[in-house]
Amino acid sequence: LARPAEVTGIGFVTGAAVRLRFCPSPPGAGIAFRRLDLVGQPVIAAHVAQVSSTTRRTTLGRPPVHVELVEHVLAALAGLRVDNCVIELDGPEPPGLDGSARAFTKAIRAAGIVLQNATRGVWSCSTPLSVRHGHATVTLHPCDAPRMRLSYLLDYGSFSPITPQRHTQDLTPETFCNGIDECRTFLLAEEAEILRKQGLGRRTKASDLLVFGPKGPIDNRLRFANEPARHKVLDLIGDLSLVGCDVAGHVVAYRSGHALNVALAQRLCEEITGRRAAA
Ligand SMILES: [Zn+2]
Repeated sequence: LARPAEVTGIGFVTGAAVRLRFCPSPPGAGIAFRRLDLVGQPVIAAHVAQVSSTTRRTTLGRPPVHVELVEHVLAALAGLRVDNCVIELDGPEPPGLDGSARAFTKAIRAAGIVLQNATRGVWSCSTPLSVRHGHATVTLHPCDAPRMRLSYLLDYGSFSPITPQRHTQDLTPETFCNGIDECRTFLLAEEAEILRKQGLGRRTKASDLLVFGPKGPIDNRLRFANEPARHKVLDLIGDLSLVGCDVAGHVVAYRSGHALNVALAQRLCEEITGRRAAA
């Protein structure tokens, strides 16, 4: 990152105004969050070892030293290939915005990205690595090129208002900013109602993100016919960035969510640590 960049907005979880600041970091520092609102301004590394919850969103750290819903902001950094950055926050979550990563990528690109004087490691596998839970799976398949390709197959059944759909994307900063970063979080109207009863998203309207009723999105229009599948690719990019290094291969996900994405990130970390120990 060439210079700091700022994004402000309302948090989906707390409903409070929050200010986020991307700050440049030296080579090798990695990605970390800093809670400016807590005593001592504690830092939480954006690493899979810090994951404490994957229910509906990915949470790092343990309350009160935690950050919820990290996946979209992490996807923005991973998508633009920013390796070293401190994300300062004055609350326990990033701004929710429109449920996509677009405002984050816009701010980062406006601040500028610089090349640092260090090499980045790229890790790949020689045989497929898979994690599963029930019918859901995520697999990293080996590939020859040093890049990541992602495929998401979404299937909530034929009676869901969200139709079965898929999306495949080779990940580069260009493709990320043309068809992935603007794809929004989605949920069913009945899920939104349950969350509201739990006191979540009180300051979020149906038009702020994608809420699917029986006839499709409520008070909103899709940005892509398969926007939900594309958003799932965005979530995957954010969750897999918690490995802490570049991963090459073809990630194929079927009905996976944050728990399974993070399980694959964990599995990759174990493989990497094992191989380093053997070397
Ligand atoms: Zn998401």
